[in-house]
Amino acid sequence: MDYRENDDETAFRLRVREWLGKNAPKDWRAHTKTEADHGALLRRWQRTLFEGGFVGLSWPVEYGGHGLTATYEAILNDELGRADTPRISFHAYLGRAIFTYGTEEQKRRFLPPMLNGDIQWCQGFSEPGAGSDLAGLRTHAELKGDRWVINGQKLWTSGAQHADWCVALVRTDKDAAKHKGISCLLTSAKAPGITIRPIKISDGAPETCEMFFDDVEVPADQMIGRPGEGWRIAMTVLAFERGPADVGLIATFQTALRRIEGIAAERGLMNDPESRKAIARIYVIGEALRLNVMEQLSQRVAGKPPGPDGSVARLLLTRAEQAIRSLELEISGAAAFTDADDTSFTSYLRSRTISIFGGTSEIQKNILANQVLGMPR
Ligand SMILES: Cc1cc2nc3c(=O)[nH]c(=O)nc-3n(C[C@H](O)[C@H](O)[C@H](O)COP(=O)(O)OP(=O)(O)OC[C@H]3O[C@@H](n4cnc5c(N)ncnc54)[C@H](O)[C@@H]3O)c2cc1C
Repeated sequence: MDYRENDDETAFRLRVREWLGKNAPKDWRAHTKTEADHGALLRRWQRTLFEGGFVGLSWPVEYGGHGLTATYEAILNDELGRADTPRISFHAYLGRAIFTYGTEEQKRRFLPPMLNGDIQWCQGFSEPGAGSDLAGLRTHAELKGDRWVINGQKLWTSGAQHADWCVALVRTDKDAAKHKGISCLLTSAKAPGITIRPIKISDGAPETCEMFFDDVEVPADQMIGRPGEGWRIAMTVLAFERGPADVGLIATFQTALRRIEGIAAERGLMNDPESRKAIARIYVIGEALRLNVMEQLSQRVAGKPPGPDGSVARLLLTRAEQAIRSLELEISGAAAFTDADDTSFTSYLRSRTISIFGGTSEIQKNILANQVLGMPR
C-alpha cells in the first residue's frame, strides 16, 4: 500500500486540524473524575464532532455516515490523537453488531442515533465468573409472549451509568452447548428492573459498573441476529474492539513521548545514559506499533475485516502503552506523586487496565496460538 496521502486526503487533514483548533475541548480530564461530568462531556463532544461532520466517516450514508474510505477515518483519528481529545469509540465496535447482524429496520432505528450521539451505549458482556471464559455467562432471558425477560448480573460495564442502551449477551437456551445457547439483545439501560452501581477503577475514575437485571422486559424485535447467534456476534464486536487500525494511538503515543522528553530535559536527564537508553527503547516500541497499525490500516482499506490477528495489534498496543507510562512515571520522579503533576501517575494506573479490558493479554496470546498459529489447545 502507498501510505502517502493524495490531495483530497491532505485537504481533509488540514480541514480537521483547523476545526479541532477551534473546537477540541480543553482541560477535559478534570471532567472525568465525576460520573455526571464525564457522561455529559462525552455526549457533548460526540454531538460537536457529529455536527462538524466527523463521526461515521466510513459508515454508509443511509445510516448517518459519510461513505468515505477507512483512510479518512484514520486521518481523523490521527488528528484527534494529536489534539489529545476524549475518545469516543463505541460505535466503531458495538455498532458493528447492529451493522453486521441487524435487520434493515434495526439498522435504520439504531445506527443514526448511535453516530450522532443521541444514544450512548454500553457493552454488557462480562459477568462475575465470565470474563475470559465469556461463554460461561449466566445472565439469562426467557421468551414470554412478544418479550424477552432478562435476569442476572453484568460486571465491569464501562459507562453504564451514563448509557441509554446496552448490547447485552444473554443465555436463551440452557440446554444447548455453552457457546451455542447465547443470544444478543439490545436493551434500554434505563428499563425498569435495571440497577446500575458504578465501580471506581485504579485511577479513581468511576468508569465501570455492576449492572443488575431483575425481570427486565425487552421487546422480541430488539434481538440482534437469531437466538443462539450471540457468540458469533460477540466475536465480531471483540475483533473490532481488539484490533482496529486506530492511527490516533500513534499520535497519542508520540505526544506522550514528547512530554517525557520535556520532563527529562527539565530534570537534566537527557545526558544520563540510562535515561537515554530507556527513551530510545520506547521509540523502538512505538515504531513497531506504528508499522503494525499501518499494516492493519492497509487491510481495512482493502476491505478485509479484522480477525484473530488483531490480537497482535492489541498486544503491541498494550506493551507500548504500559512501557511508556512506566517510563513517564520514572522520569517524572517524586513530582508524579504530588499535585505538581497529576497526569503521570494517573496515566500509569490507567495503563494497567489495557491488558485486561477487551480480553486479557493471556487470552490474546491464546487466540494467536490457537487461531493464527494453529497450536493445540
Ligand atoms: C477498565 C475495564 C473496562 C472494562 N469494560 C468492560 C465493558 O464495557 N464491558 C464488558 O463486558 N466487560 C468489560 N471489562 C471486563 C473485561 O473484559 C474482563 O475483566 C476481562 O475479560 C477479564 O475477565 P475477568 O476480570 O473475569 O478475569 P478472569 O477471566 O478471571 O482472569 C483472571 C486472570 O486469569 C487469566 N486467565 C483466565 N483464563 C485464562 C486462560 N484460559 N489462559 C490463560 N490465562 C487465563 C487472565 O488472563 C487473568 O490474568 C472491563 C474491564 C476493565 C478492567
